[in-house]
Parts: sequence; structure tokens; C-alpha cells
Amino acid sequence: MPLTPEQLAEIDALRSNPQPTLRATVPGMEAHLYHAHPVLDHGFVRVIDYMGDDAAICQAARVSYGKGTKSVQNDAGLIRYLMRHWHSTPFEMCEIKLHVKLPVFVARQWIRHRTANVNEYSARYSILDREFYIPEPDALAAQSVVNNQGRGATLEGAEAARVLEILKADSNRAYDNYESMISDEGQAGLARELARMNLPANIYTQWYWKVDLHNLFHFLRLRADAHAQYEIRVYADAICEMVKDWVPASYAAFEDYRMGGVTLSATAIACVQRMLKGEKVTQENSGMSKGEWREFLGVLNDPA
Ligand SMILES: Cc1cc2nc3c(=O)[nH]c(=O)nc-3n(C[C@H](O)[C@H](O)[C@H](O)COP(=O)(O)OP(=O)(O)OC[C@H]3O[C@@H](n4cnc5c(N)ncnc54)[C@H](O)[C@@H]3O)c2cc1C
Repeated sequence: MPLTPEQLAEIDALRSNPQPTLRATVPGMEAHLYHAHPVLDHGFVRVIDYMGDDAAICQAARVSYGKGTKSVQNDAGLIRYLMRHWHSTPFEMCEIKLHVKLPVFVARQWIRHRTANVNEYSARYSILDREFYIPEPDALAAQSVVNNQGRGATLEGAEAARVLEILKADSNRAYDNYESMISDEGQAGLARELARMNLPANIYTQWYWKVDLHNLFHFLRLRADAHAQYEIRVYADAICEMVKDWVPASYAAFEDYRMGGVTLSATAIACVQRMLKGEKVTQENSGMSKGEWREFLGVLNDPA
């Protein structure tokens, strides 16, 4: 249960008090506002606020006096053009503010995305909750033997149970000691800002994260990708669902050109051209390294 009954009551109170506005609103996004979408075992993502819609992107691109909308079809075509040609500033006209609850080790990856505004829960001021990310059994994987930055087969049986036991016991022991260090019952008690250094990286933190749509797409391109670590990918996947409802035309263009598209080097394009002419191109005569060639065949969906 990521939110307490009191927090849910606060959200319900906000949702039951709509305000009239002249600003652009998107019904799909209004439905998401404030609701917490659960992620991992104790985490969530929820939309706190947003600005702009697909029309706002076209309005900025056309530097329009009015709404800037021609027709839905024209707008979708313009948005695809902007995305295709990396004309990115119109996408910066849309903004989103999220409240995210996430394990600290996921936050470390997330915070590398510098083009956002962040305010994190203060563990100097407040006491952290006893909430740790403990993977589901199917997310407990061995080290990959082919990729140093990845996972291999799922742990099973006694080995999975052994690892889970260590994770739970260490988390609880660290938290017990954290509580005991900050306790001021009959003793001075260590400052919260110091006691927290004993906590493991699977403890949950929270932040508000505000970003524009261009930089959000960059984040999603990297973190909703199959190469991203599962624990951040599930957050990116949840955000993708929200963005789809917020700016459907932009999200469709992003899915097509960025998530589904690829960048080919000049060498790779030359190989494609030779293949189209019927020439037998191999790794040896391609001008590519073995790794590049393997990835190139992956793009062509050719397992050879
Ligand atoms: C699969 C994967 C594996 C990774 N592995 C590692 C790893 O092993 N070690 C590690 O340290 N990181 C790792 N990273 C993090 C990665 O290197 C980036 O730091 C992270 O993805 C943020 O990307 P970004 O800098 O493009 O994003 P942002 O910080 O949002 O920046 C967006 C763009 O703005 C520009 N920009 C922003 N700030 C500056 C600046 N100060 N100067 C110049 N240009 C700027 C750049 O063009 C940048 O691409 C990994 C990321 C992924 C997705």
C-alpha cells in the first residue's frame, strides 16, 4: 500500500475541488491528476501538475496568436515533422510535475538526468519510513554472463530464498539500528542527518520532479528502453502511460521515431545500400566491428 488513508483523503479532497481555468486542459491527464500509480513494492508515480498539450506545441511552432491549431490531422503531421527533424524547442513548451516514491538506488540513476527540477524528501528533517524495496521472486536474477551491466537467469528455489532472506534481514537490522540511534529516550540521540548513513540503498525516498516534454522524452528514451535496469524501467513505463494520455500525437511521434526508430551510421547505411543492390555483405567486408555488426543485424532483424 503506497499511500496511507490520510494521504488518500487529502488527494480526494483536492480532486473534489475543481477550479475553472482558461488554460489548456487534457481530459486524459485530468483523470491522472494526483492519483498514485503503484510501482515496485512501495513506490508510486503521480501527476501533481502539467502545462500544455499537443496544441500548445503547434502553437509555439507556428508562433501563433490564437490556439495555433489547424486541424487534428495537420497538428499530428506538424508534430511528426518536428520530432523527425529534431526541432525540439516546441516540445519544451509542455511541462509536467510528478511526485515519485522510489528506492534510493533507482533515485541515483534518475538524478543523472540533469535537465529537470527536483526537490527531495529531507532525511535531515524527517525520519524515513521502514520501507525497503524487496524484489519479487521473478525480478531476482543472477549476474549476466554476456553483459556486465545486466542480469541473467532468474534465481530459483533455495538460492532465491537465501538471497531474499539476506535482503530482508539486512534491511530490517539497518532500520532497527537507525531507529535506535535517533531515539532520544534516555540518551542524546544521533542527528537524523547522520543516522541515515547506515541505511541501505533499497530504502525508499520521495521527490517532486518537474521536467519539460523534450527532456522527459529523452529520459523515457533511455529509461523505458530494454537496456535500462528493470527497477527504473517500470517507473518510465508508468510515466509513458501518462504521457500517452497527455499529448497523444507527440507520444505517437516519439514512439515511432525515438522508441521504435534507430540511428544508422554512414557505414551501416552504405551496407544497406549494397544489400539492396544484391551484394553479399558480411561483417568482414562491412567496415564494422563484430559488436557493431551484431547490433546492425539485430536492427535488420536478421539473426545470422
Ligand atoms: C543503460 C544506461 C547505462 C548507464 N550506465 C552508466 C554508468 O555506468 N556510469 C555512469 O556514470 N552513468 C551511466 N549512465 C548515465 C548516463 O551516462 C547519463 O548520465 C544519463 O542517462 C543522463 O543522460 P543525459 O546526460 O543525456 O541527460 P540530461 O542530464 O537530462 O541531459 C540532457 C542533455 O542535455 C545536455 N546537457 C545537460 N547537462 C549538460 C552539461 N552540464 N554539459 C553539457 N551538456 C549537458 C546533454 O546534451 C544531454 O544529453 C547510464 C545510462 C543508461 C541509460
